[in-house]
Amino acid sequence: MLQQVNGHRSGSDAQGGKSLREDLQEFLGGEALLHELDDLTKVNPVTLETVLRCLQARYAADMFYTSAGCTLVALNPFKPVPQLYSPALMREYHAAPQPQKLRPHIFAVGEQTYRNVQSLIEPVNQSIIVSGESGAGKTWTSRCLMKFYAVVAASPTSLESHKIAERIEQRILNSNPVMEAFGNACTLRNNNSSRFGKFIQLQLNSAQQMTGAAVQTYLLEKTRVTCQASSERNFHIFYQICKGASVDERLQWHLPEGASFSWLPNPERTLEEDCFQVTREAMLHLGIDIPTQNNIFQVLAGLLHLGNIWFADSKDEAQSCQLMDDAKCSIRTSASLLQLPEDPLLETLQIRTIRAGRQQQVFQKPCSRAECDTRRDCLAKLVYARLFDWLVSVINSSICADPDSWTTFIGLLDVYGFESFPNNSLEQLCINYANEKLQQHFVAHYLRAQQEEYAFEGLDWSFVNYQDNQACLDLIEGSPISICSLINEECRLNRPSSAAQLQTRIESALAGSPCLGHNKLSREPSFIVVHYAGPVQYHTAGLVEKNKDPVPPELTRLLQQSQDSLLKVLFPMDPEEKSQEEPSGQSRAPVLTVVSKFKVLSQLEACGLVETIHISAAGFPIRIPHQNFVERYELLRRLCTRTSPGSHSPSPDERHSEWSPHTKGATLQTLLQDILHTLPALTQAAATPG
Ligand code: ADP
Ligand code: MG
Repeated sequence: MLQQVNGHRSGSDAQGGKSLREDLQEFLGGEALLHELDDLTKVNPVTLETVLRCLQARYAADMFYTSAGCTLVALNPFKPVPQLYSPALMREYHAAPQPQKLRPHIFAVGEQTYRNVQSLIEPVNQSIIVSGESGAGKTWTSRCLMKFYAVVAASPTSLESHKIAERIEQRILNSNPVMEAFGNACTLRNNNSSRFGKFIQLQLNSAQQMTGAAVQTYLLEKTRVTCQASSERNFHIFYQICKGASVDERLQWHLPEGASFSWLPNPERTLEEDCFQVTREAMLHLGIDIPTQNNIFQVLAGLLHLGNIWFADSKDEAQSCQLMDDAKCSIRTSASLLQLPEDPLLETLQIRTIRAGRQQQVFQKPCSRAECDTRRDCLAKLVYARLFDWLVSVINSSICADPDSWTTFIGLLDVYGFESFPNNSLEQLCINYANEKLQQHFVAHYLRAQQEEYAFEGLDWSFVNYQDNQACLDLIEGSPISICSLINEECRLNRPSSAAQLQTRIESALAGSPCLGHNKLSREPSFIVVHYAGPVQYHTAGLVEKNKDPVPPELTRLLQQSQDSLLKVLFPMDPEEKSQEEPSGQSRAPVLTVVSKFKVLSQLEACGLVETIHISAAGFPIRIPHQNFVERYELLRRLCTRTSPGSHSPSPDERHSEWSPHTKGATLQTLLQDILHTLPALTQAAATPG
């Protein structure tokens, strides 16, 4: 049975009358109780302001979790709150007959999800989507959930199996510091910002015990290895090795104390680099032994020295750009750390190989200084991205359960949140596109589920009118023409195209979209996309190049020559791969641009706050079993009939039919609204003795 409190209408009359909440607040002393409102669907009207006021009141009262219909809003406390995450509290939620009846908490969501997996007739996999802006606390929450399942889904008491279980749970938890060291960085928004998307699948056996896990990552922001926005930093691991290496390691990796690296901005801030030992230990638990770890750090040191290689402009186009004086030492050190022959390394950076004509003749062309820089950056990004993928595969092989040992899973999705900076480029377009897609999936999924439930209860669904974000998605990914298709086309045609031309093409081809905007005051060529979370201005400069993400085949061939055992694994001499990399004209496989690779995220889901509450509140957000409803409101109904002029006492038959479980939602809605409107009179009546 559903009880209705309609978010657009409940307790508010058409003339802008007060809501039940406002009445209650007035009666009970202003905003004093606002913090006790633990479900945002009860806020009326649902606007950014009212929701914010409620959340602010809760935040001030150290209440960091609030329900919002079927979702949970988690506020970042920005301070340690250990009592909120204690194993004792985990067990309390786990043991509660109805965890949703306890205070809103991430553990309630975790526990409900855990029960959903097991309680349904057919075991059904479940996923928890953690969404929000960068710095909101997604990764923290995701980690909290992993810890929660490590406690509540631990293996049974037998000592032998408990040890095994502990090992697997601990290993799963150990994947966090490793992935964060290599994939997180300090940004303007968050000192520990994840620069990749992550989906972790916690695998459960038929007894609901965690037997393993699998991690999938999305689009690591590898450009960060070579280019960091001002005040931002490179991935933590680089700072960790520079700060945490022992004296011997410093000698080995050529990282003297105080050395300066151009790819390591803002080294003076002491943050995550203090965690080098934690990273190393976690790696060890995951089966990455000390020699392999040292090998990884040596390669990373090689990349840092690569970043100190600078070229001087060439006076003659036919001549290669020469190294700047102080870069000579850097190239030697980098080559030695990456175990590459020094001369071919330099040549690969300086000279482009072109194959042309029917015979595929090889031409060599000296690169301009800018091209040399691009090739150097590309080499570093290539190594780092492969290293990251390799680490993920090592982690997976360490935590993945035997396929026969699990039957269901709980998925945790932690993707980068919606981003809007003064200067937004392809990275932000991809991130915001993913969030837009998640929002759409959530809305579609949630509305469908609600619709089915209402149909089952015989309730009218037609009043729920929610605008989805299809127009924005059409603008970004639609067919035949969209922002993605236009950028991809520029890559395919490979024609010289200025940033201004790209802006004009997008604006003229997509002029009809309600979600495309233009900033007249902008000096840089750009366009605006009106996302569900707000408008974002994207600069078109460099967009096409970033989307191509070209890797000159000479760079891969060079890395295949390395004598380093890790690089040999990362860049194997694969004949198939080799033939693919040969630029053999028309027969080449279609190039997968960054945007087209990113479309894999389309299967995922998430939500945006006010929109979610609107959807929840547009329907029937409060569901009370019929019996409870009768018990709770019978007294009010009696008072109602007593205070209404001309009312008569209902006969037992009449009462039965009014409160019958077969009463349709519409009748209950009318009844409830009557009760809500009569409430001020009732409170007066209650205050008047007699
Ligand atoms: P996101 O992944 O959304 O970008 P994080 O999860 O990395 O954000 O959170 C940013 C920072 O905020 C964390 O490093 C942590 O210091 C703090 N934080 C977030 N959630 C909590 C919490 N529940 N309790 C304490 N600190 C938190
Ligand atoms: Mg994060």
